[in-house]
Amino acid sequence: MDTSLFDLTGKIAIVTGGGRGIGRGIALGMARAGADVAVAARTFSEVDAVAREIETLGRRGLAVICDLSDPKSITSAVDAVVGAFGGLDIVVNNAGTNSWVPGPEHITAEQWDTVLTTNLTGVHLMSTRAYPEFLKRGGGKIINISSMVGIFGGKTIAAYAASKGGVEQYTKSCAIAWAKDNIQVNILQPGWIATKMTTGSRSNPDKYNNIVDRTPAGRYGDPEEFAGPAVFLASKASSFVTGISLPVDGGYSVNVTSATIGI
Ligand code: NDP
Repeated sequence: MDTSLFDLTGKIAIVTGGGRGIGRGIALGMARAGADVAVAARTFSEVDAVAREIETLGRRGLAVICDLSDPKSITSAVDAVVGAFGGLDIVVNNAGTNSWVPGPEHITAEQWDTVLTTNLTGVHLMSTRAYPEFLKRGGGKIINISSMVGIFGGKTIAAYAASKGGVEQYTKSCAIAWAKDNIQVNILQPGWIATKMTTGSRSNPDKYNNIVDRTPAGRYGDPEEFAGPAVFLASKASSFVTGISLPVDGGYSVNVTSATIGI
């Protein structure tokens, strides 16, 4: 096989929420594949630590302070990357937030706004700010991080599910619109991954066992397991792949019949 298909040497990426969890796994994976990577989030100590790790891999790393709920902050983040690295080829819209509530009737207007603005509006603003930069370089890649609940819903996370369902449809729309510009727009759909976001379920033995039993792989995923799928979707290897959602979930999303009636 021609492994140069997966080579990201000379490519410039920004990973939102790259300071920890899945975003960190993707940022380091892309750097190992050759990319220079800007790591963007609100907590400087975390993005700076990952940017330094990228530099130890021999690539350029950049820590960027960015609040996805603030349109001006998104524009400044992309300006900073283009200013420092000279362009932009890959956007990973990974940053996300959630509010757990007993049911949709408990979601406050403020919670709704924070989740939708960060998880969905932020994806739109980041993607459209990147678009002209991609045009200057003859193409680009966008990888959006969605969730299984963007397909299935969830009674305790209605705002989050709505935001991720929006990301699913937004991704398809951008994929259709920008295919003519050699821009591929795809989704990675995590199952249950061991990150700060899942601290609650991992520290509750009932929930933990339920999730592990329901996942055919028999465990939570590791953030580093996003490196391979992300490099695929960021590289020449996926040049005719656009508008798809790729589950990275140890089989969780297809385990319906076996999990419920045991066949
Ligand atoms: P973490 O909580 O570990 O990381 C979330 C990242 O997003 C952090 O870097 C955080 O940085 C950043 N972030 C949150 N809000 C903002 C904001 N307003 N502006 C900029 N950055 C922000 O979560 P995961 O790594 O688990 O999640 C990554 C993605 O994967 C999310 O989109 C999540 O919805 C999705 N996902 C995760 C699953 C899992 O099982 N872990 C399952 C399904 C989907 P900071 O707070 O410093 O800004």
